[in-house]
Amino acid sequence: MIGAGAMGLAAAFYALQLGHEVTVVEADSQAGGMAAHFDFDGLSIERFYHFICKPDRPTFALLEELGIADRLRWRPTSMGYWVNGVMHKWGDPISLLTTSLLNPIEKLRYGAQMFLTSKRKSFDDLETVSAKRWIEQGSGRSVYDKLWRRLMSLKFYQYADDVSAAWIATRVRRIGNSRRSLFQEELGYLEGGSQTLVDALVAAIEANGGKIHLGCPAERVETQDGAVIAVAAGGRLFPADAVICTVPTPFVSGLVPDLPQASKDAYDAIRNIGVVCVVHKLRKPVSPHFWVNIVDQDVDIPGVIEFSNLRPMDHTVVYAPYYMPTDNPKWTAPDKAFIDESFGYIRRLNPQITEADRLTSKVGRLRYAQPLCEPGFAAKIPPIRTPIRGLQVADTCFYYPEDRGVSEGARLAKEMALAVGSDHIPRREPVF
Ligand SMILES: Cc1cc2nc3c(=O)[nH]c(=O)nc-3n(C[C@H](O)[C@H](O)[C@H](O)COP(=O)(O)OP(=O)(O)OC[C@H]3O[C@@H](n4cnc5c(N)ncnc54)[C@H](O)[C@@H]3O)c2cc1C
Repeated sequence: MIGAGAMGLAAAFYALQLGHEVTVVEADSQAGGMAAHFDFDGLSIERFYHFICKPDRPTFALLEELGIADRLRWRPTSMGYWVNGVMHKWGDPISLLTTSLLNPIEKLRYGAQMFLTSKRKSFDDLETVSAKRWIEQGSGRSVYDKLWRRLMSLKFYQYADDVSAAWIATRVRRIGNSRRSLFQEELGYLEGGSQTLVDALVAAIEANGGKIHLGCPAERVETQDGAVIAVAAGGRLFPADAVICTVPTPFVSGLVPDLPQASKDAYDAIRNIGVVCVVHKLRKPVSPHFWVNIVDQDVDIPGVIEFSNLRPMDHTVVYAPYYMPTDNPKWTAPDKAFIDESFGYIRRLNPQITEADRLTSKVGRLRYAQPLCEPGFAAKIPPIRTPIRGLQVADTCFYYPEDRGVSEGARLAKEMALAVGSDHIPRREPVF
């Protein structure tokens, strides 16, 4: 197993359950990948915010199998839309009916599009359509301009008009169905954060005889006669008759030089954007909302996530994610610039917050944080089973149109574990 993120660990766990001998090699000094925690001045918390939604069935199954289902908590949450200095409550029918952001026709069209999207089983017909076109056709151009344009451009920059509608619609459906009732959104978290899941996976893997080598970057997948025979990692050679590789796809062609050129080209063609994710610990709450979308020409982030409005904590914890392609000149700015700028934005959202209320701030950076799923992306994803016998490759874009997420990673992990040494063909797409 290459990579000890949530998907790699889950694949190791399921492969052990199926009776395989498993070794995991991980480049980082800790397990967890994107879901890993850090010490935030005495608080163990995710480097990158993580929440759970009601449709995340593979997560629930994994929690059951690990015996930690009782650590899952649900909490009523709300969303805000901060538009040019005014906070609007969002995300439920009453807020939509009463908002001054949209006119009655816009409300009707937007409400209908979002509601119908949350009820749809498949978005196959949207796979080759751009999100911009889909929203403009469904809700109207003015709604796209008022609610979406700024968010899309602050997440995808030059690629904002080139994002798949199926991908956006799947996100809308996941959040739209995470509700206690039509009027109340409800999101989940794990007591102790996503580290609870990571720790349980690591413990289960080790208890079942699996080995996890941290600080052990895979350097090369060795092959003979078209089949995997070993993984060179951390200066050692780990013999293997099957390899599941879960590192971001941009690393794959370098890691497996024996792949045919066409496969390498396919991995290399998958683009990602990065994230610089600032997290602030504050004395005062910023807003009552878990998630606030921001539409303001003077604010360069698409929103903030007030995590302490989901997972109860002693202080306010708020994430400010700066997504951007890594060729953006801002990517190389120092951490302090992101901390100061995002804290300034937080003070705009709530002017009662002063510098004295800021306890501490940290920055997490990830170069491959979000695959860029353009219209027609499904045809770009290589098969999970590679032309090299015994080698399976998948990262967070392989369960497109679903967005990157622990749940779909767990589902795909099980599929890949089932395919080890068998005729099972791992299913890329979920079955609804
Ligand atoms: C900002 C942000 C917010 C998110 N929010 C949510 C959320 O709210 N809910 C949710 O479900 N999901 C969320 N996710 C997504 C979720 O974290 C991922 O889907 C999941 O953790 C991915 O797991 P993975 O194992 O596929 O990949 P990763 O976590 O990327 O794991 C890959 C691992 O491979 C390792 N690696 C890389 N190169 C090598 C090498 N050469 N040798 C060995 N190891 C290597 C990496 O160090 C890493 O540990 C979020 C992600 C981000 C970035």
